[in-house]
Amino acid sequence: MSYLNIDAQALNTYDAIVIGSGISGGWAAKELTGKGLRTLVLERGRDVRHVTDYPTTNMQPWEFEHRNQLKRDVRDANPIISKCYAFYEGTEQFFVKDAEHPYVQEKPFDWIRGYQVGGKSLMWARQTQRWSDFDFDGPARDGFAVDWPIRYADLAPWYSYVERFAGITGNKDGLATLPDGEFLPPHEWNCVEKLFQQKMASRYKDRHVIMGRAAHLTSPKQIHFDQGRAQCQHRTICERGCPFGGYFSSNSTTIPWAAKTGKMTLRPNSVVHSIIYDEKKGKATGVRVVDTNTKQMQEFYAKIIFLNAAALNSNLVLLNSTSNRFPNGLGNDSGVLGKYAAFHNYRAGISGEYDGDLDSTTDGRRPNSPYIPRFRNVLKQETGFLRGYAAGFSAGRMSYSDQNAIGADLKQSLLNPKLGGWHVGSHMMGETIPKETNYVALDPNLKDPFGIPQLKISIAYDDNDDKMVKDYQEQLTEMFTEAGFKNIKLRDDHRNPGLDIHEMGGVRMGKDPKTSMLNKWNQLHAVKNVFVTDGACMTSTSTQNPSLTYMAMTARSADYAVKAMKKGLV
Ligand SMILES: Cc1cc2nc3c(=O)[nH]c(=O)nc-3n(C[C@H](O)[C@H](O)[C@H](O)COP(=O)(O)OP(=O)(O)OC[C@H]3O[C@@H](n4cnc5c(N)ncnc54)[C@H](O)[C@@H]3O)c2cc1C
Repeated sequence: MSYLNIDAQALNTYDAIVIGSGISGGWAAKELTGKGLRTLVLERGRDVRHVTDYPTTNMQPWEFEHRNQLKRDVRDANPIISKCYAFYEGTEQFFVKDAEHPYVQEKPFDWIRGYQVGGKSLMWARQTQRWSDFDFDGPARDGFAVDWPIRYADLAPWYSYVERFAGITGNKDGLATLPDGEFLPPHEWNCVEKLFQQKMASRYKDRHVIMGRAAHLTSPKQIHFDQGRAQCQHRTICERGCPFGGYFSSNSTTIPWAAKTGKMTLRPNSVVHSIIYDEKKGKATGVRVVDTNTKQMQEFYAKIIFLNAAALNSNLVLLNSTSNRFPNGLGNDSGVLGKYAAFHNYRAGISGEYDGDLDSTTDGRRPNSPYIPRFRNVLKQETGFLRGYAAGFSAGRMSYSDQNAIGADLKQSLLNPKLGGWHVGSHMMGETIPKETNYVALDPNLKDPFGIPQLKISIAYDDNDDKMVKDYQEQLTEMFTEAGFKNIKLRDDHRNPGLDIHEMGGVRMGKDPKTSMLNKWNQLHAVKNVFVTDGACMTSTSTQNPSLTYMAMTARSADYAVKAMKKGLV
């Protein structure tokens, strides 16, 4: 028997374990296998293989039973996930339904999740901006959270590294607030977007309108062909999965690349319950996993562990990893685990109309739109709230066709729709301030179907967020008016936190182990062979879409981890 046990232990032992196969876990898998480590990737959801597991990717609207709309009973049964704009008949298979994996909302929180190989990388909106030192300096300058242990210079080469591989479209705009990257050619503007850009440039020194930076192959390079990907076709149905690999997802890019090394074992249907800590060794030795098919618990072992289960689930795994040494969660000597969670404030929007340029219209689709980088409180504090917001912007022409026509008339009407005026719109992307009172914890009573405590989420807006919404509305109204837009309408939809899908923090980085969980290499201060490189590590949130930063941090941290491992430091 003992022989068998030893064999079983050897069979379940790897150099590295990666928990989660989404955007950050995919990068960890690619980097660790690329550096020669036998790596086990544990994913709680089912396998989703590139191309073959995108069942709706080539379907036309009329091929869906409900014309690609959500059925009423699906909507009624899923009040949370139905709020997400990307959840519709063609994408239902990629989102966690409300009843499937319950959590406790101590305060209202819409938790949008994708539990499958690829995680949310399949459905994301692909916006990718770098941070700058205005972001990393934020907490120290404005006196909240703790100082980041890294600055832009630490991450800059890693941004370049991941951008080149993932393929990022954008324009080199030369802005200090939003450093340029390794860009593929940018997407095109339409004339009203260009007009807005020019009017803002002539009216304001510090307000810029740029073309969005996004993970799309506008002009693929050899490295992308080597990944088996091809040029983006502008189908704008990305969240169904793209058979061209036109946008970056773990499924099309990092996971197959890791598989090609022959060093990766991908184990779907494997929920990580907790990380095993060995007190004698003073290290983590592996993980406990519940197999979702058999509901049996199993252990896997490795020298280093990358935790990439997405921000809130990574908090859950650490909180659930208790031992004599760490009774309140792995690495939680500081007591900050689960605290200082934050998100992005997407509550506000503005729309308007433009009655010029009626001799022009748009042609085709574009999976991207212009972007207004943060301009508030950048060089100095100038408002009654801390930090600021970025904004999306787009313009398009309304078109109408006669839906009551039939036969040839219907065809004609669809091919030659009547054009209305231009509509313009923007939405706010505000930074929120991480606070001790915004936290996640384990519910003491409720368990999920795998016997794991449910996550209790207690996260809310504050006065700073309300002031920011008001300022966004005032400033954007001024900017829209300057541009000559009319019929301006404001929106504050008071959506719950979470619907921004950028939850962050709880396992924050910092210089001082007494006030933070992770050091500058994303390594637990107290357990050096555990690395957390998803949104849980974020000390503050800034305004940029976060995933590019997770990719760069993961690649940097994996590079450090392998070097440290070779030197016997972890
Ligand atoms: C509609 C939508 C639009 C978005 N738009 C943007 C955007 O434009 N730009 C941007 O930067 N971000 C965007 N995001 C957010 C982006 O998807 C996330 O920031 C990103 O996916 C986070 O990467 P991750 O690796 O941390 O998590 P995920 O990609 O969610 O992957 C985590 C993986 O871990 C698995 N997992 C969880 N718990 C366990 C466990 N206990 N054991 C094993 N496996 C586990 C999950 O099943 C999942 O596969 C968007 C998201 C959505 C849904």
